[in-house]
Amino acid sequence: MFDTVIGLEVHVQLNTKSKIFCSCSTQFESPPNTNICPVCCGYPGVLPVFNQEALRLGLRVGIALNCKINSSIYFERKNYFYPDLPKDYQISQYKSPLGYQGSLKIDAGKKIGIERIHLEEDAGKLIHKGNYSLVDFNRTGIPLLEIVSLPQLTSPKEAFDYLQSLKLILQYIGVSSCDMEKGYLRCDANISLKKKDANIFGTKVELKNMNSFKGVKAALEYEIKRQTKQLKDKKIIIQETRLWDSDKLKTIAMRSKEEAHDYRYFPEPDLPDFAVPAELIKQERESLEELPKARVERFIKQYQLSKEESSLLVENKQLADFFEKVLDFFNEPKKVYKLLFGPFLEQVKLLESGFSGIKISAKDFAKVVKYFNQKKINNRGVKKILAIAVPEKKDIDKIIKAEGLIQLSDQKGLEEIAEKILENNPKAIKEYKQGKTKAIQFLLGQVMKETRGRANPQLVRKIFERRLKE
Ligand SMILES: [Zn+2]
Repeated sequence: MFDTVIGLEVHVQLNTKSKIFCSCSTQFESPPNTNICPVCCGYPGVLPVFNQEALRLGLRVGIALNCKINSSIYFERKNYFYPDLPKDYQISQYKSPLGYQGSLKIDAGKKIGIERIHLEEDAGKLIHKGNYSLVDFNRTGIPLLEIVSLPQLTSPKEAFDYLQSLKLILQYIGVSSCDMEKGYLRCDANISLKKKDANIFGTKVELKNMNSFKGVKAALEYEIKRQTKQLKDKKIIIQETRLWDSDKLKTIAMRSKEEAHDYRYFPEPDLPDFAVPAELIKQERESLEELPKARVERFIKQYQLSKEESSLLVENKQLADFFEKVLDFFNEPKKVYKLLFGPFLEQVKLLESGFSGIKISAKDFAKVVKYFNQKKINNRGVKKILAIAVPEKKDIDKIIKAEGLIQLSDQKGLEEIAEKILENNPKAIKEYKQGKTKAIQFLLGQVMKETRGRANPQLVRKIFERRLKE
């Protein structure tokens, strides 16, 4: 009955060492109000100085999102009052954004237009306690890049895919960790409904306060239901900002939406116009990493992985980088992939710092994969080695020796052990002959116990199958 129209505004924190207009540190979780100075606190008479690194990182995003880049930019004051904003205005960009008319491809292959990307400074943070509030200005002046999509997303699922794709690109080009828990990536959504195939948009509602991509999806789903009911009941939709309540799973009206003219934008008189040098654009374009979508395609072609396998790898840049390094030492992509996504990731998940905490080198992991495929060690051996060598730097061969992990593949020796097990377990033989083929698993288990897990299970299974048919 209705079409959904969604546009997203994403704020991403650029990972510079200092703030956008002063030299204060951007260090996360510093004690409150320690990373502040007269500039970011808006004392009279001080002058902001533009951080060139913020420009460079913003530029990388513009290039990766296929934006046109403004060759000259300037900043404007966005005026509003809020206790976390010491200057009573935010230095932002309005009429001359860094980039415009870009695009981003989402999973289904659909291209979503990027209206604009612009640089601005963050506000401080209010900490509410009982009947009073505290303010921390550490975040004031941290560089943000706002990325505004065109209202071309037509479902919560598309919005989710857009955010996933965008986040991955931002991580790949090294401009932000996009850690949502730390607030390095924040998303607001505009949503409206219109009669099927109508040309006129409905009244839009802005949604805020979603702190995960799943939250964005859930808030949009809720809002579609709410607005549909309003429209069916012939009630009007109010243009307003609503907050997502992740406990009650509903949106709550916060305030009527401001228009741009409410902010009384005017050019920041303390900062000059800045040229965006063509040389800098060229340099950033050339140094841009391979983007995730292109990497997935390359993995499929170069390593004969399936689309799903490639996507799973590329989703985690560190893992994909590690995978390619391992291939330098053992060039069997499928075999490396299998152990990477099995026993290796199991160990990584146990590490507190995740992938950054791994101690095993690509060369050593390649060795493990090689030994496994040479049947020198079995599955259990691989698990044991990785349990030791992933969290701690250890020599693989020494572990194998110390733990006695060399797989027993000597036919005669295994036959002797199998004979002994058969002699001691007449019940299992009887069961097998009565048709309970599972008994073979029990016998195999006994051999593994006898050899402390070192027997080649495939070989032992064959020996039993042959002997029990006699
Ligand atoms: Zn400062």
